[in-house]
Amino acid sequence: MSTNISVSVRIRPLLPSETNDGMKNILRRIDDCQLVFDPKDPSSNQRNTYAHGSKRNKELCYAFDRVFGEEASQQDVFEGTTQPLIPLVLDGFNATVFAYGATGCGKTHTISGSPSDPGIIHRTFHALFSHINSITSDSPSTTITLTVSYLEVYNETIRDLLAPACVTSSAASSTLDLREDDESKRVTVSNLSEHSPETVDQVLALMTLGNKNRIKAFTEANAVSSRSHAVLQVYIHKVETVPAMDKDHTAKETHTTATLSIIDLAGSERASSTKNKGTRLLEGANINRSLLALGNCINALCSSTSAKHIPYRDSKLTRLLKYSLQGTCRVVMITNISPASVHYEETGNTLKYANRAK
Ligand code: ADP
Ligand code: MG
Repeated sequence: MSTNISVSVRIRPLLPSETNDGMKNILRRIDDCQLVFDPKDPSSNQRNTYAHGSKRNKELCYAFDRVFGEEASQQDVFEGTTQPLIPLVLDGFNATVFAYGATGCGKTHTISGSPSDPGIIHRTFHALFSHINSITSDSPSTTITLTVSYLEVYNETIRDLLAPACVTSSAASSTLDLREDDESKRVTVSNLSEHSPETVDQVLALMTLGNKNRIKAFTEANAVSSRSHAVLQVYIHKVETVPAMDKDHTAKETHTTATLSIIDLAGSERASSTKNKGTRLLEGANINRSLLALGNCINALCSSTSAKHIPYRDSKLTRLLKYSLQGTCRVVMITNISPASVHYEETGNTLKYANRAK
């Protein structure tokens, strides 16, 4: 089976606080597709042994579909990852974009960004609305409806982040079920609220509301956002009416549907860390499950052997994405990594995960 999975890496800049703390940069972008990672433990005090080249082979060179360096703008990342998916989604292909990486490495910056430097979601809706406008103005017999939902998967439970205000407080603790419809090739979430924004501002208002609900449900805001997967899904329904050639016949309608999923994944650090104990380990195990299941599904989809089993059922996230990863779907994985020496272990693990997904 041919795959439509592309893997990009985005290296964020060293943050001012990291520079102030004297942290070294352990990543070097070679070109648009390659980077070099210095895998040595920076605390082992051996960094200078590279100086004469004899140990340079200890550095690891990785190749990906795209490598974005610290100078890459939000627009560069959008154009190099998500923009090409937009016409495909409007033609009926499902697509999934996700940001993978340890907490603090730039996932939320990439997916959401800030009002002054918006990320993929803002740019995607801008492009979607403008494509929809040009399609419907070129072809007045075409109508396109766009529906949005926003949920989080936390400890293998699904919560609606846009539940109507009156039910939000109880919805915070209520968990939603997945329904799989083999015929329509769609997985839906029962009782998940759906919204029909007509402008980018309306989308952003929904996202702000959703993120507030994400935080409200728990006391430790940062801990929550780093332990839950935030999944934005856009459902596109296009109806083209073809006038009947023969006056006796009624006009013919063709329906095209597609789902675009944009996901800010939970921090990957617990998936690899063996240091956590007790409750944190349990939470980690659930994150582990979704991230590992996602990695396993992607590996299985990429593997060249035919007639293989794709383990979608291993986690809520992969069950939800079943029809958004396989076959003709387009999948874009954006791997966020930090160049700071303090993160060398996470960076190494993240690069391995991303490399397996190629
Ligand atoms: P994550 O969501 O992976 O935990 P964040 O997106 O919150 O990480 O990023 C952590 C910090 O790094 C934030 O202060 C963010 O603004 C900053 N940051 C991340 N990526 C970039 C980037 N490409 N350019 C500038 N700052 C960035
Ligand atoms: Mg984040």
